[in-house]
Amino acid sequence: MNYIGTRNKDICATASKAILQGICEDGGLFLPEEMPVMKKPLSELVQLDYRALAYEILSLFLTDFTEEELKACINGAYDEKFDVPEIVPVVKAGDVSILELFHGKTIAFKDMALSILPYLMKTAAKKNGLDKEIVILTATSGDTGKAALEGFAGVEGVKIIVFFPEDGVSPVQKLQMVTQEGDNTCVVGIKGNFDDAQTAVKTIFTDAVLQQELAEKGFVFSSANSINIGRLVPQVVYYFWGYLQMAKQGEIALGEEINVTVPTGNFGNILAGYFAKQMGLPVKTFLCASNDNKVLYDFFTTGTYDKNRPFMVTTSPSMDILISSNLERLLCLLTNQETCKKRMEELKTTGKYTLDVKAKDIVGQWADEAKTAAAIRTMFEENGYVLDTHTAVAYASYETYKKETGDATPTLIVSTASPYKFTKDVMTAIDEKYAQEDFFVLMDKMAALSGVAIPAPIRGIQDRPVRHKTVIEKDNIKAFVADYLTK
Ligand SMILES: *Cc1c(COP(=O)(O)O)cnc(C)c1O
Repeated sequence: MNYIGTRNKDICATASKAILQGICEDGGLFLPEEMPVMKKPLSELVQLDYRALAYEILSLFLTDFTEEELKACINGAYDEKFDVPEIVPVVKAGDVSILELFHGKTIAFKDMALSILPYLMKTAAKKNGLDKEIVILTATSGDTGKAALEGFAGVEGVKIIVFFPEDGVSPVQKLQMVTQEGDNTCVVGIKGNFDDAQTAVKTIFTDAVLQQELAEKGFVFSSANSINIGRLVPQVVYYFWGYLQMAKQGEIALGEEINVTVPTGNFGNILAGYFAKQMGLPVKTFLCASNDNKVLYDFFTTGTYDKNRPFMVTTSPSMDILISSNLERLLCLLTNQETCKKRMEELKTTGKYTLDVKAKDIVGQWADEAKTAAAIRTMFEENGYVLDTHTAVAYASYETYKKETGDATPTLIVSTASPYKFTKDVMTAIDEKYAQEDFFVLMDKMAALSGVAIPAPIRGIQDRPVRHKTVIEKDNIKAFVADYLTK
């Protein structure tokens, strides 16, 4: 199976080439030319462990990888790096099942894809006889950066440069990144927001002159952002997994439909779920949950996507995004390349577009800061379960949806981060009295309150040496990259 462009269907690449390239040469994104169908019955899939399930799904998408190659990638990624043997636990709390995607090294869901992407990329480089050093350029709203650094640190033949909004990430997120080890890592704060970083990085990917210059020096760019199909495909796995665990736990019968709520920013996570549904997973409705930056909620309710609005800094920073890159893939699936290209041009020139077709099975909902905090408090008081701020946006949105529609379909809430990543905001939501306390003292208090130990990867993080101190203006990203790679 090949991958084609969202803006031009004549752009076509094998899976391994699409992973290496990250983005199409015209700025479009790669999409499977045809969605694969899961032919194995659920009754068979339910017997598999996470790695075996991953193989069943990845082998349908990455058809130019051999069985041996895929299994090596999967086994390298989903091992003891995860702090639970099942890799992704599903926990019942109150009226929902929670898919805990935060048991990897950086305690956020980005680990699910970024622990395997380096393996896929190395394999792809070998398959295609690539003789250049791969430079991973990554814009991050907080979590992708660290997960990508962790995945690519020390990987031979790869350099990684991460740009993060200097004032737009949580203290733990920032410490995780600036203390990153590895000679091939580079972390840069920018004076700007995530959208600024993402736009600059995308521009570099389509800058033929810069690419030519760097190619002569032996470098080729790729992306660890969810614009890379190699990020998206591994994420399809846990939607199947979550469904199958709900069945195992007796919450549903095999074949029964569920709803899935996803805290959304760049639309990468939920899109993987949408792929799973297209492959045959019994999902009725996806609830796309937004925070105050509710550009997606407005899009799904009105049909108009409009990024012309103030950028809000919230307690769920990884969702503080106004340009959701992966929506382009949905757009292309719902319409065609020609329409998609036009809409993307409108978005670039006017900051908005309107679509007259709707995804029947995706509904938008949102939660403001007060509702998000209330969701954390209520979930803790009623069930003793501590949600992180992003997952709380999802849970609050779900509660609103349920009240408004009366839809009582069994629901899976996709949990994207450990509450320890956002300790201060989570603890303050539980009780105002924590607002004045030190972040790291609060980690201990959270452990006592929740009965969940502080995850090993962030224990003592405040004492690690800061290795990355560079901060640049947002307009200097391209110049920085050129300079860094040629000096
Ligand atoms: C990245 C991230 C999100 C948003 O995921 P998208 O794929 O960008 O929609 C939500 N929550 C957390 C904790 C994240 O790190």
